[in-house]
Amino acid sequence: MDPIGEKEIRGSFVNCSKGEARRINLPRALPELPWADLDFLGWRDPGAPDRGYLVAGHRGELVGISLRVAQEVRRSFTKSTVCSVCVTPHPGTGVSLFVAPRVGAAGRQGNTVGTYMCADLACSLYVRDIKRSEPGVRFETLTTEERITRAVANLEGFLDKVFDGDLRSA
Ligand SMILES: [Zn+2]
Repeated sequence: MDPIGEKEIRGSFVNCSKGEARRINLPRALPELPWADLDFLGWRDPGAPDRGYLVAGHRGELVGISLRVAQEVRRSFTKSTVCSVCVTPHPGTGVSLFVAPRVGAAGRQGNTVGTYMCADLACSLYVRDIKRSEPGVRFETLTTEERITRAVANLEGFLDKVFDGDLRSA
């Protein structure tokens, strides 16, 4: 994705209040992020461990989504789980259940959408093998290009659910 700055990031959020978007802790050293290798910008809030954010192009617009990490039943540490965006298998706590309020009235009424994703929201780096999950084994034969295409499509599907037919009004 093209590099974006603080103003664009804060202005992109669609499922939280403007006040909340102003208070979000952004990733450090934004200009130094590996933008060319990112399909979307995802990060965990360094000041609030149960919060995560992602900013992505969606239907021609830059869209920021505020996420909360759901409280979950403890999973077996011997079992690996798979990110539903980039399909990278992770052992233990490498995958988290993230919950996003829906855009618009539905979200204000407490309606949310959940998705299992890489806990560090670095899917773009996993699909490119820049970052590896602990087992380091990829039992797929897809090319990097195919994995990127699939991850982008999966993220698109999630964003569609967050919007849920609610067209962005402004
Ligand atoms: Zn992932």
